[in-house]
Amino acid sequence: MSDTMEIDGQQQQQQGIDAAVPDGFNTDYLRIYYAKLFPYGDFFKWLSYGNDAKHPGCDQSYIGRRELSFTLENDIYLRFQSFDSAAELESSIKEKCPFKIDIGPVYSVDPAKRHAYAQSGNNVFVPVERELIFDIDISDYDDVRYCCSGADTCMDCWPLMTVVIKILDASLRGDFGFNHILWVYSGRRGVHCWVCDSRARKLTNEQRSAIADYFRVYKGGENSLKKVSLTGPVLHPFLARSYTDVLKSFFEDKLLHSQQLLASEERCQKILELIPDENVASEIHDRWQGNRRSSISKEDVNASRWEQLKTTLQSGKHKTQGLRRCVEEIVFSYTYPRLDMEVSKHMNHLLKAPFCIHPKTGRVCVPIDPNNCEDFDPSAVPTLSQLLGELNAAGMQMDSESDWERTSLEKSIRFFRTSFLQPMLKACKEELESAYSAKLQQSKNTLNW
Ligand SMILES: [Zn+2]
Repeated sequence: MSDTMEIDGQQQQQQGIDAAVPDGFNTDYLRIYYAKLFPYGDFFKWLSYGNDAKHPGCDQSYIGRRELSFTLENDIYLRFQSFDSAAELESSIKEKCPFKIDIGPVYSVDPAKRHAYAQSGNNVFVPVERELIFDIDISDYDDVRYCCSGADTCMDCWPLMTVVIKILDASLRGDFGFNHILWVYSGRRGVHCWVCDSRARKLTNEQRSAIADYFRVYKGGENSLKKVSLTGPVLHPFLARSYTDVLKSFFEDKLLHSQQLLASEERCQKILELIPDENVASEIHDRWQGNRRSSISKEDVNASRWEQLKTTLQSGKHKTQGLRRCVEEIVFSYTYPRLDMEVSKHMNHLLKAPFCIHPKTGRVCVPIDPNNCEDFDPSAVPTLSQLLGELNAAGMQMDSESDWERTSLEKSIRFFRTSFLQPMLKACKEELESAYSAKLQQSKNTLNW
């Protein structure tokens, strides 16, 4: 927009001012977004998982059994919306102009016709497929961040979300063998993860719970002081890897300083409370008191106190007192991903769709590249008004297909397409074709009998 743009000449300045659109979120803005920018084609292709092709192995009913849910202005919910084609999806979204679009599961039958099936007496309306999803809110980290609280974020605390992406993405790929994983900025306070491999989509609720439990280390709750308990003679390989590859350096090099974790008595006490042995905790506290008078600057106090804590806990005399894990436990308590488990465990949970606009921030729920997640800055994500300004600046063109190419949404749509959608559809096609030829072979064999 004009006030942030680098402007050379008078003419450009004039154009910039004309193009600028006041900040905000409203139905008028949203209508233009849905008319010109929302990537219907890619969105539909994604949720079709190859079944929209001409191949005889395609399940033509597949996309029509997927629930979408719209939240309209004034919190009117339209659940169980379903669509047979991209054109149908597009015209419905344009007409209803939803403030929020949620994606539900694929059901056994078209969710829009569920009542008809119920009347037929057969209780066949059940969810049969759904991406494995994870939902992480930074507001769940309020006890370990001092810069912001609630829905607010800044670049001092946002890296907690970057850590979530690194840990989960590596494990979902490395430990579970999933390949088609989409990370999305939730638009305000966190991130969403969609695991889209067909194996993931077909998981039962029990299997989803087992995977969620695999990631569970943090046992939150206001009243429990100790939120992480790492038991057993050695750390589980996944936790050990998470610690050495990500958490330790993040805690020591970033969080300790950005959140000034040991800079005040109150914050120090919070960490000491995680040490189960009172004598050891007070020994560390005494050492910290000692360095108050020394010449350590404010910046160094966190690092030097952390070093003192580690030296004390890891010294020979405490090795046998069950404190061996305490350093790790503190690091995990402050940095390990805090997942909303319920979202992951049940197939029929709704989750906000990518490329929605968050009404409070006006920001687009754009995909995040897990390989470059450190570079993601939520405050740099395009807003609705910014995009409309860019459309204005580019001028109206006849070819409405490519309007997004002239806005800063281009990078996000291209990333979605090339890094996520295309490789996933290729895998879907291969699976579909091999399943079909296996079926053909089977019926051939039956005939030969
Ligand atoms: Zn912050």
